[in-house]
Amino acid sequence: MDTLNAVVNVIEQKREKFIALSDKIWEVPELYFQEFQSSGYLIHALEEEGFQVEREVAGISTAFVGSFGSGKPVIAILGEFDALPGLSQKKGLTHHDPLVEGGNGHGCGHNLLGTGAFAAAVAVKEYLAQNDRQGTIRFYGCPAEENGSGKALMTKAGLFDDVDIAFSWHPWDVPGLMDKRTLANYSAKFKFTGKSAHAAAAPHLGRSALDAVELMNVGVNYLREHMVPDARIHYAVTDTGGASPNVVQANADVVYLIRAAEKDEVESLYKRVQDIARGAALMTGTTFEEEFVGTASNLIPNSVLADIMYENLEKVGAPSYDEGDVAFAKKIRDTLSTEDLNSAYAGRDRETVKKLKERDIADFIPPYIPSEAIMSGSTDVGDVSWVVPTMQCLTTCFALGTPLHTWQVVSQGVAPIAHKGMLQAAKVIASTVLQVMENPVIIEQAKEELAERLDGKSYRSLIPDSVN
Ligand SMILES: [Zn+2]
Repeated sequence: MDTLNAVVNVIEQKREKFIALSDKIWEVPELYFQEFQSSGYLIHALEEEGFQVEREVAGISTAFVGSFGSGKPVIAILGEFDALPGLSQKKGLTHHDPLVEGGNGHGCGHNLLGTGAFAAAVAVKEYLAQNDRQGTIRFYGCPAEENGSGKALMTKAGLFDDVDIAFSWHPWDVPGLMDKRTLANYSAKFKFTGKSAHAAAAPHLGRSALDAVELMNVGVNYLREHMVPDARIHYAVTDTGGASPNVVQANADVVYLIRAAEKDEVESLYKRVQDIARGAALMTGTTFEEEFVGTASNLIPNSVLADIMYENLEKVGAPSYDEGDVAFAKKIRDTLSTEDLNSAYAGRDRETVKKLKERDIADFIPPYIPSEAIMSGSTDVGDVSWVVPTMQCLTTCFALGTPLHTWQVVSQGVAPIAHKGMLQAAKVIASTVLQVMENPVIIEQAKEELAERLDGKSYRSLIPDSVN
């Protein structure tokens, strides 16, 4: 039996089990580093399947690694399972209705992501066991993707140092690959401290931390014109120092998030932002402290892995959808803006756009068009990709045009379309892993490409040593 048939058989046999696991994680949406139930479900499922599980890796309570097999090659499959705040939503509805007012929800489909990655690991394990093959398959339980830089911490801790290749996937609205470069980022909180005083009776005795925050923001806004083209800087004032205008604000905080195409560029911009903070403190007679919030490295693509993963995506093919799936997708699309709907067509070839415009669900695999473009977001998979050649596929889990981080994703996260996409992703990952394991030359080529793209640079974490 060929490897693709073998993985399809295992995944189809255990189909109901995988769907139940994903739905269970959807039911307990947990935020970054708090994924105790979700990680517990996955650990239990791994142990039931015969994986050796190492818990609390990299000093993180909800990070773990499940391992099966022995020796080289070592292939990693990355699974996520964290949720988002404020996105609680009842399942299967086509209108906004929170399950818990203000509660969390799986607005990025990580219930599917973690379970699909697990299903792939199980299929690879079965093949290795039944065919008595050498090699190690590892499932990396990666917490805190949305916030907290889980994989950056795991990479810094050296957890990927002996891994040959890493794979993952993401629930999406059109099948394909996550093969674009992403932006590196760094985020820190600037906490200003001044001196409170009666704003009318003794303003000369006060030193306003809020003034410092405002001046810092003005300074950074002047910096914008003089940054590298792909850079972005965002800020959020998280503490304005109180609600009373008649008290000089003694404390005020602002969180900065800096992005650029290269990690070095992020670092140099960050130094300029620090200078501006110093200037704001000098101007206002205040002081400030910095607190690390998060970081992600830019994602290094890999054409060798992209080619073989796409080949497997085409071989696995798209699932079929019934009338119920289409009717549900149509109703979800009715809730989306024209901009959302059009976003599904951006950057695609004309033939694909034409086909997509006739559909509510992307039920075909568009042709692969390699690109060195930059996607204006960041992911902590970036850190892994600096150390290990890494590739991720995308499968249709949502109605066409559904934007991530919305109630529509939460609502669709336990629907048949989502389940089909999750199992499809598991098949693509598992068959790609086995192709790599059976052809060690692919590993060598992928590693050569990574070395060429890094051009002499090696991984350096931007996480301060005081953090872990
Ligand atoms: Zn996500």
